[in-house]
Amino acid sequence: MRHEMRAEYAEVDEADEAGGPAGAWPVKTWHMVRPGEEEAMCGRVLRPDARGLSEAEWGRTPEPFCHTCGALYLRESP
Ligand SMILES: [Zn+2]
Repeated sequence: MRHEMRAEYAEVDEADEAGGPAGAWPVKTWHMVRPGEEEAMCGRVLRPDARGLSEAEWGRTPEPFCHTCGALYLRESP
């Protein structure tokens, strides 16, 4: 099992929410999630339908990534 990146979305109002799937929303921050867990390593609870990315994309996305998750992840990754 590997870590996975999960998206935290900017606040969306109900109109946006009705407008499309979560995959179409703008990503605010990327978090890292431990294998088999729902919560980000920094403790933030992410939407179950949030976009996911391979941990290989860490640091390569146009959106910022969570500093707390980054620090914890670097300590755990080989
Ligand atoms: Zn985080």
